[in-house]
Amino acid sequence: MILTVVKKIPITDNHLHLSERGRGIEAIRDFERAGGTHAIVVSLPSWMYGVIAKCPEDYDVGYEATIRMVERVNKETGVKAWAVVGVHPAELIKLKGRMKISEAVEVMKGALERAQKLVVEGKCVGIKSGRPHWKVSEEEWELSCEVMEYAMRLAKEVNCPVQLHTEGATEEGISHIGSIAKKVGLPTHKVIKHYSPPQLQMFRKGGVFPSVLAVDGAVEKALEQGDDFFIETDYIDDPKRPGAVLGPKIVPKRTLSALKKGYEDALWKIHCENVERAYNVEVVV
Ligand SMILES: [Zn+2]
Repeated sequence: MILTVVKKIPITDNHLHLSERGRGIEAIRDFERAGGTHAIVVSLPSWMYGVIAKCPEDYDVGYEATIRMVERVNKETGVKAWAVVGVHPAELIKLKGRMKISEAVEVMKGALERAQKLVVEGKCVGIKSGRPHWKVSEEEWELSCEVMEYAMRLAKEVNCPVQLHTEGATEEGISHIGSIAKKVGLPTHKVIKHYSPPQLQMFRKGGVFPSVLAVDGAVEKALEQGDDFFIETDYIDDPKRPGAVLGPKIVPKRTLSALKKGYEDALWKIHCENVERAYNVEVVV
């Protein structure tokens, strides 16, 4: 009898969402069945939790829901999950309808401080921030950059990463984000741009670490260039928008297909070492 030894490899989805109103644990079971082992679960914008935010404390609802989902994943499945919570850049637009824009900025900064506190308490491993990917006024752009820089400062203080939701990647934009991180002193491997294209050279040059969206062909294209990136689905877990982004099985699927092509060392780096170095966690398989 011939026994085929299947080597266990860590498979980490670096950015997905799990909602108590969505498929939640069931989505993670799909991820696990496909070969997934680790997941970074990111908080959704406050209004997705039915919150009309007016003060920093209002963000706790979404933060706590994210942490609850992570606890359930760790208890009820074989996947190891960690939470990243923070403030979506679109919060500025929502908040400024309820208060002066200067006050909106303070609310966002206060909410980021609450995220930092959760990192210190060991309930989260990173802070989410960013700047708009849609057209905004000059003032809104400047203030969004100020909030993002503040998030980087908070991350630097406690040696955790930021996961950034920003405008589409261009050389100029990535270099600008990297220059802010450099000014703050946050190292490149902790400045993670979620929803990234597989253009590693641009990220290296700019000093930002890409989390490559696992659309068809993107992972292989990135692997051809190196192993300094993460892989993500941005699975949104919204029952009203099925198939809006990638499903939870995609990262395992792309990884196992790349494994067959001989990228084993690079895949270990991406799914284990890069994760450990960015989030100060241990990836065990
Ligand atoms: Zn997302």
